[in-house]
This record gives sequence, structure tokens and C-alpha cells, in this order.
Amino acid sequence: RPAFVRAPLHELPPAVAERIAAGEVIERPVSVVKELIENALDAGAQDIRIEVRGGGLRLIRVSDDGYGIPEAELATVCERHTTSKLTTFEDLEHLHTLGFRGEALASIATIAEVTIQSRAWETEQPGEEQPAYWVSWRGGQLQERGRRARPHGTTVTVTDLFYNVPARLSYTRAARTENGHIVQLVRRYAVGYPSVRFYLALDEHTAVQTSGSGNLATTLTELYHLSLAEMLQEIDVSDGKHYWLRGYMGNRVLAQSSRQYITLFINGRWVQSRALQEALEQGYRSLLPKGKHPLLVLAVEVPPTEVDVNVHPAKTEVHLLQEAKIKEALIQVVKGQLERSPVIPEAVQFP
Ligand code: ADP
Ligand code: MG
Repeated sequence: RPAFVRAPLHELPPAVAERIAAGEVIERPVSVVKELIENALDAGAQDIRIEVRGGGLRLIRVSDDGYGIPEAELATVCERHTTSKLTTFEDLEHLHTLGFRGEALASIATIAEVTIQSRAWETEQPGEEQPAYWVSWRGGQLQERGRRARPHGTTVTVTDLFYNVPARLSYTRAARTENGHIVQLVRRYAVGYPSVRFYLALDEHTAVQTSGSGNLATTLTELYHLSLAEMLQEIDVSDGKHYWLRGYMGNRVLAQSSRQYITLFINGRWVQSRALQEALEQGYRSLLPKGKHPLLVLAVEVPPTEVDVNVHPAKTEVHLLQEAKIKEALIQVVKGQLERSPVIPEAVQFP
């Protein structure tokens, strides 16, 4: 006989179940920033401003100039499974947005205080200025709502993150560490979306700023404060059917001691694909000194029917139908680029 007694089966109170589920989507402050940036991109934003205080625990604020949220919907966007991006399960097969589960805002609003201000283009008649509205939530409950003028777009402010999830709070590291994750994330999106202007301030100090010029080489230069143009090689390869690989790769001079300068997007979604990462390594292993990794930004475009994005709660992993073909293409691209790159002894190291 076991030493303990089994409690009877019972349904979890919704508030408890929701707080548990929220933890799967929001692991740490950077997860909030990621979800809010993705929402801004899904809203067609050209300009995304991010403000972070206290490593994200005190405040995370993301402002965009996207399509906005109409007043009638503002009170429901933080409910679970409400989304404007998907209706049928089959829609997943031709998804062109980063979000689709309708879970992010609900999760964040369960474990923090959230205020959303928005002014939508959609409901505005020509010649008439639509007022802007705001609503606030705490612990999954709608708190207050009101009206306040603002330009078109949306601002989401998250304060007191994890106030009711002590385990997450103790898992959260020093502000410096969390800020580091946030900077990396914003840089990734900045290179993934060079035509969008990104601005990130950490405790009121500018940490990332790009111009949204649309030129990836310019964006990389803005991020790393170096004139990289002649050290970058463009990648543009397609088999006309299953994949299109676009991006930039630094030559051997730009080899880094960390993998963090390898950024991979699949259909506009930043991913951490072990399989593709392996293919990349296979491509550069013999051409770079041991322990070195290239600066590489690669956007992989595949037909939406050949990718399954619904395999990971944070959506950072995907399954590719034609994985073997794409891996082979990656190995060849990386090899080809490095073989053409000059061998110069002095290396440039990023901060
Ligand atoms: P999802 O992105 O999966 O739809 P979210 O919880 O992230 O789920 O967002 C819920 C909904 O709120 C979105 O479908 C969208 O309609 C709306 N929304 C969220 N953020 C924004 C934004 N920045 N601009 C416009 N609409 C937004
Ligand atoms: Mg979303």
C-alpha cells in the first residue's frame, strides 16, 4: 500500500486551470515581449516601440501603429480562445499570421495587470475622428474601461508580471539577465522584419533602434554599429516549389563565438529548429575555426501547407514536411557562401 492517499478526482476551478495554462505560454518576461511584438506585426504595424522596466517585471509596454482593436472587441480580446486570425481548424493550413490560438493576451492578463489602449482604423468613417478607448485587466478580471485620445494603433501595457505566480517569480532572474533575453529577441525581429521600425528602451535607455529601411544589411549595421556591408553576402535560393531561402550571411571575418547571431525565420516566424540548426552547422563546421559560428539571418519561406506551426505552446518550433530537402539546401548554401568568403585572420567580435 502506498504511503499516501489519492485525492478524489475533481475539476480544477477555472481560475486555477487558467493560471497553470498561462505558465506554458509565458515562461519569463521575454515571452510577453514576444507575444506583443507578434500581435503588432500581425496588425500590420510599421513602427513598434517597446519599453521595459525592471527586467520586465515592473513594466512592459509595446506600442504599434497597426490596425487597432475596435471598441466593441476591446473587452473580449483578453478572453481565452478569442482571435481574429483563425476560424476553422483547416485555416491553420494557410495561416499568414504569427498568432492563431487567441491565448497570449488571455494568459498575460491572468498573471499580470494589463491595460490595452487602441484606436482602430476599421470602424472609422472618412472625415470623422474616432476616439480611442482603453480597458484594463488584473488576474483575468476586467477592471476598468475608458476613453482617451491617441493616434491609430494599439498600446499594451503589462505591469506586475507574475504577481500571482510565485514560482515563476522566483524563476525570473536578475533584471540584467531578463533584459539580455529581451534585447536578443528584439534584434531577431528587427532583422526578420527590416521594413518595420523597432525601438527598445530598457529603463529609459535606448537598447535597440532600427530605421525600418527595408534593407537587411542596413538593419544589421544599425544593430551592431558596424559597417558590415562588405562583410555580408546575400542569400537568395529557391527550388521554385518547396522552399525559398533569403537572407544574409557574414563572411569568415564575422565568425562569432556564440550561436546567438544565427537567426532563423520560417514563414515570418522566428523559430528554434534543431533540425535546421544541425544542417547549418554541418554546412559551416569544416569551414570555420572550432567553436565559431557565422552571423546568419535566414528567412525560409515554404508553402503554408508544408509547415505545421501548432507543435509547441510558444510556437518556437515547427514541423516541415520537406525537412530533408530544406536541410540539404541549407548545407549547400552555407558551404557555398563560406567557400567564397576570403580567409582573413583578424575577426570582428560583437559585444
Ligand atoms: P492571437 O494573436 O493568437 O489571435 P492574442 O491573445 O495574442 O491571440 O490576441 C487576441 C486578439 O487581439 C488578436 O486576434 C487580435 O484581434 C487582437 N489584438 C491583439 N493585439 C493586437 C494589436 N497590437 N493590434 C490589433 N489587434 C490586436
Ligand atoms: Mg498573438
